[in-house]
Amino acid sequence: MKLFDSHCHLTDPPLAQDLDGVLQRAANSGVKNFIVPGYDLFSSRSACRLASANSSIFAAIGLHPAWLTPTSDFSPEPFRQLARLRAPVAIGEIGLDYALKEYSAAKQAEVLRVQLELSTILSLPVIIHCRRAFEPLYLVLREFSEVVGVLHAYGGGPQLAEKFLSLGYYIGFGGGLTRPQAHKVKKTALMVPAERILLETDAPYIGSHTVAKGDSEPRDVLAVAHSLTDLRGWDIAETAALTTANTLRLFNLKERM
Ligand SMILES: [Zn+2]
Repeated sequence: MKLFDSHCHLTDPPLAQDLDGVLQRAANSGVKNFIVPGYDLFSSRSACRLASANSSIFAAIGLHPAWLTPTSDFSPEPFRQLARLRAPVAIGEIGLDYALKEYSAAKQAEVLRVQLELSTILSLPVIIHCRRAFEPLYLVLREFSEVVGVLHAYGGGPQLAEKFLSLGYYIGFGGGLTRPQAHKVKKTALMVPAERILLETDAPYIGSHTVAKGDSEPRDVLAVAHSLTDLRGWDIAETAALTTANTLRLFNLKERM
């Protein structure tokens, strides 16, 4: 069985300090491949370094709305150079986060658009972070009809998911799906077409039913896969095969593996 953690922060503590252990425990749970997104230039460079040192790890580069600098303009140039040099598999994580009150909606949308333009130029998919901004996000993504990607750790509910699916987007499910009371996420996981589902942990930042936030690791994809398996009435091998194939397709990884 081969599971894919489509979103984990192996560049960050405590995972970075015990990378060999983290990868070994992941392998023991069937989790064999990883996408590590950046959230600013520094972490994007780290993700690329990690990916060039380890063939099971793939990097994404981008500026997350939480790492915007309110006083200075965003320039995509260093990211473009990094992309030329290191061939990341996606632009991300990027997006809109209206829970962050210190950055205006207009500024966030502007920086998102610049990065969607970059993904168009580089022909790369995007990894989208979104909190409390799904309607405005939909309107921005709709402007870039040639761009596809994933809404990672999706929490927007089934009706909104329908809209993003219609744009060709994939939906990423993580530890939230393992929580018995997570009715909205479960409802969404039931309606998303099988060929559009990705699995992830966002480790170490999102926990699960049994693992506290901060302690999560890519191995916990297995628990997410089991939750999805129970929900959809699949078997675990089918879940692994489907979601891994989806990840390879979205990020054009077949020729890289
Ligand atoms: Zn993340």
